[in-house]
Amino acid sequence: MDLFSQKIERSELKEGDHVYSWRKERLISHHGIFIGEGKIIHFVNPKKKSTGNPYLAPFRGFATSSDGSGKKEKTICPNSFCKLEKVAGSGVRTSCIDCFVKKGSLCRYKYQASREFLLAKTVGGTCTTAESDPPEEVIYRATYLHENGYGKYDLSSNNCEDFALYCKTGLWSTDKEYQGRSSQANMVHSTHKTKKEEAMGEKVYRYATAIPRTFLKRESKDLGLRNDVVKVPVEELSSFCTSVRQK
Ligand SMILES: [Zn+2]
Repeated sequence: MDLFSQKIERSELKEGDHVYSWRKERLISHHGIFIGEGKIIHFVNPKKKSTGNPYLAPFRGFATSSDGSGKKEKTICPNSFCKLEKVAGSGVRTSCIDCFVKKGSLCRYKYQASREFLLAKTVGGTCTTAESDPPEEVIYRATYLHENGYGKYDLSSNNCEDFALYCKTGLWSTDKEYQGRSSQANMVHSTHKTKKEEAMGEKVYRYATAIPRTFLKRESKDLGLRNDVVKVPVEELSSFCTSVRQK
């Protein structure tokens, strides 16, 4: 077995796990929190066109697939909870494992990773040296944010990995200039633009070229090694973020 493989079987899932699945040919991983009963709470970019679940759309305020784009309609998930956003347009939703994983494979994010493990990983978005809180606390945060929303999606500072990291640790940055905690955004680096990167979107590309990251920088930006992060109770997260922005 590959020592560094974080791929898991569904039977190995534990409530409160931070899971991820690779998207777009291993360039981006999508993250969420497994809360049990086959459900994963995750944060998506609400502006990204989603086919949603047309049957639920009238009740849940999703964009349906009838946008006339001629794009192939996605298969409708039989799970009634799937793609449910309690706060319409918040981007925080529940999905079944299948819809979360899509064509990727299910992996478990590693907490309390050693520095060696952290540096040995050639891609971001897989581990942190930070410690996870107990599962009931993790599930409480994820559920709370599902019910109340989680702020604005931002690929470089508030993405799906940031959401899962917060649910697991309750840690948030006090640094106005550097709110992002996800290692995935920190690891995006490139010296030349490829077709694949173009596909990732202009925003990622601009971020990638503006802030090239090295492995050492990655270590210094790891959530568990940063000294600008504090525990923020989930009920206070919204006001905390506002106060940081107004600094
Ligand atoms: Zn589903």
